[in-house]
Amino acid sequence: MRNSLYFIALSFILLSCASNKPAQKAGIKPANLVRTTSSTVKPPIKHDVQGDYYTVNIADGSKNDNTVSYGSIVTAKPEKYKVVRTFFPALAQNFRQKYLIFHYTALDNDKSATVLSQKEVSAHYLVNDKDDKEIYQLVDENKRAYHAGISAWRNDKNLNDTSIGIEIVNLGYTVDASGKKIFAPFSDDQIKKVAALAKDIVNRYMIPPTNVLAHSDIAPSRKQDPGPNFPWKKLYDQYQIGMWYDEATKQSFLSATTPEVLSTQMTDINFIFKVQNFLHSFGYDLALSGSWDAPTQRTLEAFQCHFRPEKYDGVLDVETLAILQALLQKYSAK
Ligand SMILES: [Zn+2]
Repeated sequence: MRNSLYFIALSFILLSCASNKPAQKAGIKPANLVRTTSSTVKPPIKHDVQGDYYTVNIADGSKNDNTVSYGSIVTAKPEKYKVVRTFFPALAQNFRQKYLIFHYTALDNDKSATVLSQKEVSAHYLVNDKDDKEIYQLVDENKRAYHAGISAWRNDKNLNDTSIGIEIVNLGYTVDASGKKIFAPFSDDQIKKVAALAKDIVNRYMIPPTNVLAHSDIAPSRKQDPGPNFPWKKLYDQYQIGMWYDEATKQSFLSATTPEVLSTQMTDINFIFKVQNFLHSFGYDLALSGSWDAPTQRTLEAFQCHFRPEKYDGVLDVETLAILQALLQKYSAK
């Protein structure tokens, strides 16, 4: 009984990591696109024990918002008929994988593996915190995993349909006496694993930096993971993964205001609208209410966890505002 209750509780913790749908232009054109047509060059199809796959990109750059199209071919095998692929690969195709989403499990290694493989939630990959070289794959990259739940970013909703999910073993957070969330650290070895895996995925699908996100970015009112200890700046600096602001741009925005000026602006409804519009334009699914309501605070908290991890209380300060403006300037929505 205790065990079953425990399991129900566990699956509840991760249940939020669950759900669905596609859309949007990310704006990155694949470099070195190899164009072929059915009447000119036949792209080679390689056959081996892993299956069949194209060895070159055959996608149409004008239709392809962020991916290339080499890789596996899953095909029909109709009885008594032959599916012919070699001479008719369409130009108008690309991958469905547009996003990379990071999570932490809030569980230890064994419980993470159990819940993610046997319950209602899943992810494509699970990165343990052991001192080994293994990364677990739980779901085929071509299939949908249930890790994002109700989620949105820019024009896209239900990101399970269009994302790869990576769950990272980490115990999450506890709350101290003052009510502050204290998050567990990630080890350097574990981050190296995460970075190698993420780099491989981002490169293969040409996922743009604006689509490499935290679970908390795409579901800020429900989620905190992977939290402020997740090293986004390191991933950007050392592995060219995801977004980060330019320091000089941030400084120029910072020098244009002061904490005193900001504190008077904080009660101005037009200023609140402006900040909410900044967050919404950047990508967050936030209603423009004109007040520092709970969704706005949670969105600010998610933003700070990602880009200003020294302070993640959900309250705007000059530093957070300058970082937000610097990012908007660098990664404007297409
Ligand atoms: Zn999550």
